[in-house]
Formats: sequence, C-alpha cells, structure tokens
Amino acid sequence: MSWSDLNGRLAQIGRGHAHGEPHFVNPSVARGSTVLFESMEAMRARSAQRYEHQLIYGAMGGPTQALLEEAIAVIEGGAHTQVVSSGLAACTTALLSFLGAGGHCLVPDSVYGPTRRFCDTMLRRLGVETTYYDPLIDAASLRALMRPTTQVVFAESPGSHSFEVQDVPSLARVAHEHGAKLILDNTWGIHVFQPFRHGVDVSIQALTKYPAGHSDAIVGAITVADEVDWVTLRDSVVQMGQFASPDDCWLVLRGLRTMGIRLEQQSRAALEVASWLRERPEVARVLHPALPDCPGHEYFLRDFSGATSLFGVVFHERYTASAVEDMAGALGVFGLGASWGGYESLVLPTTGTITRTVSRAESGPALRLHVGLEPVPSLLADLEGGLAVLREASS
Ligand SMILES: *Cc1c(COP(=O)(O)O)cnc(C)c1O
Repeated sequence: MSWSDLNGRLAQIGRGHAHGEPHFVNPSVARGSTVLFESMEAMRARSAQRYEHQLIYGAMGGPTQALLEEAIAVIEGGAHTQVVSSGLAACTTALLSFLGAGGHCLVPDSVYGPTRRFCDTMLRRLGVETTYYDPLIDAASLRALMRPTTQVVFAESPGSHSFEVQDVPSLARVAHEHGAKLILDNTWGIHVFQPFRHGVDVSIQALTKYPAGHSDAIVGAITVADEVDWVTLRDSVVQMGQFASPDDCWLVLRGLRTMGIRLEQQSRAALEVASWLRERPEVARVLHPALPDCPGHEYFLRDFSGATSLFGVVFHERYTASAVEDMAGALGVFGLGASWGGYESLVLPTTGTITRTVSRAESGPALRLHVGLEPVPSLLADLEGGLAVLREASS
C-alpha cells in the first residue's frame, strides 16, 4: 500500500458514523461497565454473541474499542482484531491462547526482553517449554527444532534491539507443516509488513508505538485472519478479563489519522540519519532494515513495502559501552528513554540489553535511535555533538 493509499484509508476507518444523522467528525469516548437491556430476550440473544463485537458488558469491550479494532484489522489486513491493555499483554495473551501444558514454543533469540521473560518464567511454570532459535535460521534447521508438541512458532521481525529481519514466509511454512501457529510481533512493521500475506496466523501490535504516536497511551492489539483462530483468541481474552480503556483506544484512533504522514516523514528522516551515521568513522555498522548492513536485509527487500523510523547503531570496539552511554546522555534533541513510535526522537543504549542464548547479535557498543518529526539538520547536529562526547570519553 502506498503512503497516499494509507492516508486515504486512515482518514476513513474506525469512525463509525451514525446512519445518516448529522454527527461529529469523530466518535466520542464511550465509557461504561453495565449494559442495560430492554428485555430478557434481548439480554439472552446478546449474551450468545460474545465472539462478535457486541455490547454485552463493559469488560468485554464497548463501541470505542470496537472502532479501533475495526481500524487495526484493516491496517494489518486481518479479519478480526482484539485490543488489550498493552503491547506486552498482546504478546502474552496471544501465547497463552495458542499454547497449553505439555506444549512447546519456538522463540527467536532476538525477541523483546519481556516476552522472553514471560516464556522463561510464566510459561515454564505452566508446563510449556520454550526453545530459542537464531532469528536468521533457515527452514531445514527450524524443521529440526520442531517437536510433535510444538504449538507455536513466535517471530519478531525485525528484532526491536538487534534488527534481524526474519524470513517470515519460510518460518510460517515450517510451522504449518507441523500444525503449529505462526505468531508475529509486527510492531515495527505496522502496515509496511502485511502479515497475513506472508503466512502469519496471529499478528501483534504495540499500538503504544506509531498508532498512538504521541507517547501518551499504552494499548496492544492482536489480529487474526481465520474465524477458528478468532474464537480461540476471543475465548482466552474474555476468560482472562483482558481489556483496553476506551480513553486510550480513543487516543489511538486519534493518533491513527496522522500515522501515515508521520510515518512517511519519519521513515524518510530516519533513512537520512542512518545514512549519515554510516559514513562516520566512529560507526562500525548501522542496523537499519532498509540498508545492506542489516542482517536479513534481503527479506526486507522482498517482503516490506517501506521502513519505519527505529534502527540501531553499532560503534567500533575501541569505544566503551560507558562512553556510548555518555553520548546518549549528552544528546538533547534525542530524548533518553525507552519505547518509540511517538512524534519525538529518542535514544536508548542497547549494549548487552538483550539476552542471547543460541546466537550472537551484532557485537559492539550500541545505541537504538528512534527518529521523530524534528528537522533532520537539528538531529544531525545533536548527533555530531554526541559523537564528540563519545570520542572524548574514550580517549
Ligand atoms: C514496545 C514493544 C512491546 C510492548 O508494548 P507496550 O505497549 O509498551 O507494552 C512489544 N513488542 C515490541 C517489539 C515492542 O517494541
């Protein structure tokens, strides 16, 4: 989908106009717990419809959540979306929905840290085994890791700290040969990676990132393309009481209207900043999926329609991790903090922040940069100052 097609869609989806009546441009925030029914028959009929986006009880979702779910399903190209309390809850809820005691899960070594922790503690306690795999694994090696009990192959492409782009279609083929589900954390790929065209069964978004876009809301989404998967997912969500607040969902709906133009601008600026860094003598490698140094770049070229604005920078070994931290702390336009996807630029030192057990990440002192809407010259001037601090701290 081109940027202008995306902008056209984002202006329309999830607005829920009332039938022909004069109405405000935007829906209002619908808050509520109890739903009142006009008759016993109406109450009974509704209660049988919990797989549909129907108003039954507030904790099962209301009109504001339903509009956001409708919009995300369009962006991801799926059939149904479920919103949950955070991006992390989207990861854990998807895993809990498709795994059971005695089951086995394959997870990339590059996975988002809190997802790994969930696999290593909660899933283990529930009797689910996790095997980590090299994010750049080939089909034959993945096949060798599959067990009769493998229920889920998890993927995250690119890895949010080390940026390996995964061969998702091939992972999906191997998963399906063994009757397992391919669950993808598609937060980086929002709209530039269309998960269901590449064999993904369950796609996860931290809506906290580009969709909310203003660093002021935490929401997650789980999308499926298949009706049977939807019933499995929705059942788990209702049982666990997973919920996203209508106020936060409304903020994400508002953020979506400008997501296309933000992404278009931010991705262009990020590529400029990444290309500039690549020419710097302090820099060993830039881990930007759209640049050839990034592991799995060939899958990016094959499967993605564009890039977003989060990438990594690895410095030469002569710079210490603490000098890189000094550099991060010295930046002013790039704020120092976790998360990404907002309108503002961010920096995060990432040296050794990801536990690896079966594969090596790009070694060396590293930073993760998120490029926001500030002008590129001011971002470059900020980095220029930061690099001076880096050199000084290492001399
Ligand atoms: C941020 C992030 C999450 C978690 O999202 P929250 O809404 O912050 O819980 C999950 N996966 C990836 C890849 C992320 O970057």
